[in-house]
Amino acid sequence: MDRRDLRGVHGLRRPLAVAADALLAAFLAPRCAACADPLERPTGGPVCESCWARVEAIRPPFCVVCGGVLMSWRALGEAADSCPTCRRRPSLVDSSRSAGLYEGSLRNIVHAFKYDGRRTLAPRLGALMRDAGRDLLSSAACAVPVPLHPWRRFRRGFNQAADLAGSLDLPVVHALWRSRATAPQTGLTASGRRRNVRGAFSNSPLLGDRVRSSLLVDRIVVLVDDVRTTGATLDACARVLKDAGAAEVRALTVAFAAPPDTGDQRLETRETETA
Ligand SMILES: [Zn+2]
Ligand SMILES: [Zn+2]
Repeated sequence: MDRRDLRGVHGLRRPLAVAADALLAAFLAPRCAACADPLERPTGGPVCESCWARVEAIRPPFCVVCGGVLMSWRALGEAADSCPTCRRRPSLVDSSRSAGLYEGSLRNIVHAFKYDGRRTLAPRLGALMRDAGRDLLSSAACAVPVPLHPWRRFRRGFNQAADLAGSLDLPVVHALWRSRATAPQTGLTASGRRRNVRGAFSNSPLLGDRVRSSLLVDRIVVLVDDVRTTGATLDACARVLKDAGAAEVRALTVAFAAPPDTGDQRLETRETETA
């Protein structure tokens, strides 16, 4: 279908969509799931356009390892492509990217998606991730969502990471299994959190060894999650994927919760909140 055809389809749909929006807005008065203002275009999804427009993207320079914002003066120094935290502690994740900072509008949208079960937000959040992670996604063989513990998955009704992974135009491989619920992390230091998730993930028993090998061995794998906090969870998942033979593990998340050199106190609050 060329551009003209697309315009034609939109041209037909538009009056209907406008009428539907007017009716929905008048009779149901739905509100934006992120800011609670009345929705002008309810057929456009549960979040208003001004909330989407306020999502703060992470712009370069950023750390190639964790995807966090680098202060520009750091980018001028040596080892310019990674942040102090990543230089201090090598990660099993080879490179990472997040669509935006986990604050303000994006935080509200992620909350609506994850805690209010607004799963229709996944494709648009996925589009933000595709934009931000274009380099990571190119040449990748598959997307692997960070799993929830089966009990949490049952209670929530869906795994937000799996919904996001399904929006990336890559085959989704449910290669991992969370055998231990890891919350609460409150009161733990960064290294304590790392210890807390160590051993929490394993190969999924639902995937046979031969299938797993054919999908992962010598492949580039993109780990997908909603919010990155300290990166401890992604690192623990990357360990399992690399043990299974993955050549490279990249991580893509919707949101980046805090700069990598932010104090533990702030990370603590957010990790607890996003568990
Ligand atoms: Zn809004
Ligand atoms: Zn970093």
